[in-house]
Amino acid sequence: MHKTNYVKSVFISALFLIFTACSTTTIFNPPLYEIPGDWQPDSIRTKTILSYSKYLSGKKIFLDPGHGGEDRRNKNPKGDVIEADVNLRVALNLKSYFEKAGCTVFISRDKDTTVQLGYRSELANNSGADIFISIHHNAPGKSEDIFTNYTSVYYHAKEVNYEFEPCNRDMARYVARDLSYVMGNPTGLGSFDGSYSDYNIYPGEGFSVLRKTKIPAILIEGAFHTSRYEELRLNNEEFNSIQAWGIFRGIARYFKAGIPKIELIPDSTGYKENNLKLCFAVNDSAGIDKHSVRFYFNKEERDFLFDKEKNFVSVNLTEVVPGEYPVKINAANKNGNNSLPFRRIIKISNDGSISVTE
Ligand SMILES: [Zn+2]
Repeated sequence: MHKTNYVKSVFISALFLIFTACSTTTIFNPPLYEIPGDWQPDSIRTKTILSYSKYLSGKKIFLDPGHGGEDRRNKNPKGDVIEADVNLRVALNLKSYFEKAGCTVFISRDKDTTVQLGYRSELANNSGADIFISIHHNAPGKSEDIFTNYTSVYYHAKEVNYEFEPCNRDMARYVARDLSYVMGNPTGLGSFDGSYSDYNIYPGEGFSVLRKTKIPAILIEGAFHTSRYEELRLNNEEFNSIQAWGIFRGIARYFKAGIPKIELIPDSTGYKENNLKLCFAVNDSAGIDKHSVRFYFNKEERDFLFDKEKNFVSVNLTEVVPGEYPVKINAANKNGNNSLPFRRIIKISNDGSISVTE
């Protein structure tokens, strides 16, 4: 072949290849979210709910969809994703899953109404619920930030604080894991497992609803409603019900891991010549992790003896004068789940008699 023709033919072949390649290349559009394998079809979902109902049936759950009514300020940059509405849709879906699993559900609002922060905790404390779940979506500190996006779940106080209750962190971990999984979101770099202390946001105070709610409580920030990616799906009702599914599954698995029970044994408790003896039974079918036990007297951590045959925690305190003392004890089972908050006031009268109040 003549050299010029040869070059021409190579050039044309190359162009042909480029055009062919371009015309056969399809742009891959990943779905905005995946459908969980245990969520659809309906028969699978019903079966999954039924399998979790043995851990959930009879539980009382308080749901708190954040904001609403006069508080509709938190929006995405375009203004069409309103945090209050997303929170409510997720909460109503979650309510229906819990009810199908045999739970009693209380809710701070079931429509777009104003509910004051303090009143949300008051409702929860008076409801007789076992746990409190507040549902929110997040925004970064800078309004121009449309990139930050992760799933986080908050518990009250930090591990070093007396007011910290480890069961709240347990629940936060379970929910963060399952919620971030169904959303396909990371859980942020501020935590290994997606659980965060509310003292990270308001040092020493935390979130009002977590500080004032006396039952075990978490606050979920499902995602950032300001994220350019998240805003595409937060108004999608199917996606909101999948979010609820993640929270539901997290709570179901939290209860499945078991919660140790603690009781004060009155017969083994006594006070004589400034010596106070207390005895607690700590039980869980999964077994108690003896290294997890913590006992606090008058807000100070104190030593104790753990009898692993009887699962008794015995405390002998000396130089205790009559008065009122707060007592707190915590223990985890071998699955890592901690007991629910156990706090009592021990009142020692001048005649040496003891009374215990919650
Ligand atoms: Zn919020």
